[in-house]
Amino acid sequence: MDKTPMLNRRKFISRSTQALALIPLVTVSEGQVWAAERITLDHPTASALGYVHDALKTDTTRFPKRLGPEGAKQFCSNCSQYKQTEEGWGTCAIFPNYLVAGPGWCNVWVPIT
Ligand code: SF4
Repeated sequence: MDKTPMLNRRKFISRSTQALALIPLVTVSEGQVWAAERITLDHPTASALGYVHDALKTDTTRFPKRLGPEGAKQFCSNCSQYKQTEEGWGTCAIFPNYLVAGPGWCNVWVPIT
């Protein structure tokens, strides 16, 4: 006779449910990059591109692209590289694995077409 303990149906369902509960559920929309961290101003690429969390604080001497009436309309939130993921923050194709601020700006700003 086989002495191997049998896993009955009730135990199987219970253990399966417990195992599933341990799997973290992460929903990522199509085309969206998982980004856990908000970018900092001292990030080398951010610094080189003049990224700021608040577009009104852009150094327009270094980055005149944001000067004038058209420049004043430029924000991350209306840049083609931006996808909002949470209130006021989103992903940017220029900064993989980071979040940028919706009211922010950098010199790569491209209008949504
Ligand atoms: Fe913001 Fe666009 Fe620059 Fe990304 S590329 S930091 S979304 S302005």
